[in-house]
Amino acid sequence: MSVLSSPHFHDEAKAFEYLESIVWADGIVCPHCGVTDGRVYDLSGVRTKPSAKHPEGKVRHGLKKCGECRKQFTVKVGTVFEHARLPLTKMLQAVHLMVSSKKGISAHQLHRVLEITYKSAWFLAHRIREAMRSGDLAQPFGSNGGAVEVDETYIGFKRDVATRRGTAHKHGVLALVDRDTGESRWFKFDKATADQIHPIVLDNISREARLMTDEAKMYRKIGREFREHGTTTHAAFQYVDLTDRTIHTNTVEGAFSIFKRGMRGVYQHCAEHHLHRYLAEFEFRYNNRTANGVDDRQRAANAVAGITGKRLTYKSDYEQQPA
Ligand SMILES: [Zn+2]
Repeated sequence: MSVLSSPHFHDEAKAFEYLESIVWADGIVCPHCGVTDGRVYDLSGVRTKPSAKHPEGKVRHGLKKCGECRKQFTVKVGTVFEHARLPLTKMLQAVHLMVSSKKGISAHQLHRVLEITYKSAWFLAHRIREAMRSGDLAQPFGSNGGAVEVDETYIGFKRDVATRRGTAHKHGVLALVDRDTGESRWFKFDKATADQIHPIVLDNISREARLMTDEAKMYRKIGREFREHGTTTHAAFQYVDLTDRTIHTNTVEGAFSIFKRGMRGVYQHCAEHHLHRYLAEFEFRYNNRTANGVDDRQRAANAVAGITGKRLTYKSDYEQQPA
């Protein structure tokens, strides 16, 4: 049985049950007053007002009522799905498609596969990216004294920079990979200067770590802050230190190659103010990849678990039209 034949992709009631099982794994919480389980009851059989399209109204799936504040809600309230009008089954299909394709899926593909408008597909993809964004910073990388690789890459074109030479017209992306846990963190930056790069490195990597970078000047001074600083000289085509073969940045470069192929092939037109969301998407897929022991089903559930507490506001949604 293929993964997409699961009932929650086709039956709206089952889709709500699936979402509830993840969002309320520790029990129902009223999004209005915060009251937990027991005081909340199901409102079954409630329908929407009759309309031309649905003369008898539509069933309101997953509707609950809080016994404390008397307000109604569904599991979508307070999540990135709250104001999306699409059926939940389609939104869950979109999550599955986005997390199971290595390089991602474009809004155009979602529009065709899910048979929703391009605009809906575009907004939906951004909602899902927001769900994939990791929450508060966890422990710094390399806390157990392991190797952490850091590297930067450049993509796209800035609209306001005339020159096409060098990297001044491109967006900078810095990635960190903890070699022991296989996890990554991704950041955008404007210029590869110590001012912009050092705070990211210092905030996210333990001083106990073995820092791995290329020979770029901006890493020299900061390298002294760490237990060890291993560098390779890419300019001289040296990618692994021959006296200590654990000194390299090949892992982070592998992550960049997936990212660049994805951005080139699927997301050709990425505006700068959306770049952080694409980075969140690639970071999520990298950290939840099969090599880290996460299968497609679990990866989708992990993405869905991130929908709470990150509601996109209407304003930010609608000010930023599809690019
Ligand atoms: Zn309540």
